[in-house]
Amino acid sequence: MTRLTGIAASDGIAIAKAYRFVQPDLTFAKTTVHDIEAEQKRLAAALAKAEQELIVIRQQTLEKFSAEEAAIFEAHLLVVHDPELIGPINQKIADEAVNAEYALHEVTSMFVALFEGMDDEYMSARASDIKDVTNRILAHLLGVHIPNPSNINEQVIIVANDLTPSETAQLDRNYVLGFITDIGGRTSHSAIMARSLEIPAVVGAGVATTTIQDGDTIIVDGLTGQVLVNPSADVIADYQEKAQKYRVQQAEWSTLVNEQTVSKDGVHVELAANIGSPNDLDGVLRHGAEGIGLYRTEFLYMGRENLPSEEEQFTAYKTVLEGMKGKPVVIRTLDIGGDKHLPYLPLQEEMNPFLGHRAIRLCLDQQELFRTQLRALLRASVYGNLKIMFPMIATIQEFRAAKAILLEEKEKLIAGGVAVGSSIEVGMMVEIPSTAVMADIFAKEVDFFSIGTNDLIQYTMAADRMNEKVSYLYQPYNPAILRLIQMVIKAAHQEQKWVGMCGEMAGDEHAVPLLLGLGLDEFSMSATSILKTRALLKQLSVPEMQTLATEALQLATAEEVLEKVKQAVK
Ligand code: PEP
Ligand code: MG
Repeated sequence: MTRLTGIAASDGIAIAKAYRFVQPDLTFAKTTVHDIEAEQKRLAAALAKAEQELIVIRQQTLEKFSAEEAAIFEAHLLVVHDPELIGPINQKIADEAVNAEYALHEVTSMFVALFEGMDDEYMSARASDIKDVTNRILAHLLGVHIPNPSNINEQVIIVANDLTPSETAQLDRNYVLGFITDIGGRTSHSAIMARSLEIPAVVGAGVATTTIQDGDTIIVDGLTGQVLVNPSADVIADYQEKAQKYRVQQAEWSTLVNEQTVSKDGVHVELAANIGSPNDLDGVLRHGAEGIGLYRTEFLYMGRENLPSEEEQFTAYKTVLEGMKGKPVVIRTLDIGGDKHLPYLPLQEEMNPFLGHRAIRLCLDQQELFRTQLRALLRASVYGNLKIMFPMIATIQEFRAAKAILLEEKEKLIAGGVAVGSSIEVGMMVEIPSTAVMADIFAKEVDFFSIGTNDLIQYTMAADRMNEKVSYLYQPYNPAILRLIQMVIKAAHQEQKWVGMCGEMAGDEHAVPLLLGLGLDEFSMSATSILKTRALLKQLSVPEMQTLATEALQLATAEEVLEKVKQAVK
């Protein structure tokens, strides 16, 4: 048995066979061939296998996802059949007596370069189709396997170097029982999505893809970050028991689903959920959330080939607002960039994407994109209790500019006779240290703050949240972070504004006592953490936690703070 240790990213225990989601090595050498006809037959055989594979994938995608997603593979099939592409490859093999791999690569690269150079959205999508199909044909020529998670039809644990948020979104929960990645941290978006999909996960396990083979038996312990490869029958039995205990614990928590969240001394705080799509609503209601504290709308823009229309966005926002039946719903405007990309919105390569042209910076620059989203939000606002939040605000001018655009769109809609909610709160994320330090100034102009500790910690500690080598600096209990949080809460309360937290810290069992003591009003987290947190808050008294927080603020290290919390809350 081999044991790997990573970062516990999503609670729960899963035991199943490994499925490696690792791109194969597609390198090849140029060779001279003597039997032209045999080489062309080899190409034809690879094309036939690629075609067969695509027909199956298209069908499975249609059954498991949607016609829109299946259309991607329809386009790939067209490429496989395209005589204008296949003809020149065969010609090249004949004219130059070269191997099929080389001829394929040369011809398709020419088309890709041509289409990419056209600066046209449709053509650049075609270029990306040709690249994908070329890799599939190459894999068949080389006799290697391209993994395809939508092809999975047995229960597995995915092992990957990393999963993009859109790859994570496409995992089928019926088959994918857990996942392990080499890189990433607790706040990388694949980890966040694993929690909303309720799939146990360990990220940042370093050598998972080099250690684990397809078909190995794997235990993923998302509670501790342990991964066990080919464990003995005894170890499997131990973990089955541990998984059973966890299920019993969950059943106990679930009795709190319809209860209010109150501390031991009767103080109410709000427990809200973070979501990425209207599909998450079911989990939100099942786990008894009192609202939605963060709807990450960027997921609506991801895993597709074009921008979502105003109508599509309106429908998604309306669904969430109606589903929450008047409970507060904080919808965050587009936060793209960092580790989240849109294939159809070519952004410049950046040295430091997390410090780059992302979120509100991009929206203020590409205003049509922003205005479309704001119109959809404003139109949806009449269907529930909407609060709009801007991400990655660094300066007061950015907040003012974003709010001014929102008000302009609102005026225009009203002038056109469209109904818009009359009391939409407008707030901002506090995730850049400049805004925490200047919270007193911001508090006069915003309706609320939501502290985004995933980014606030990475920017305060200068530690990339995607880099497992510096993940030890993700220190929510560090007094530096606690002091910033205190500044934000004090400044907001001074102006009678409320403060939430939607970073992962809000659902961290050792941070919750401190946050209660610091006066946080709303805690927003993965839906799966809500009941556990409600049970915890019932045991805490506000005056005691105030004393704990005051003492913690004076300590020197995160370790000392953690120790103090553990002593105070047994
Ligand atoms: C945060 O930064 O804490 C946050 C909630 O936003 P995201 O994780 O989407 O960057
Ligand atoms: Mg953030």
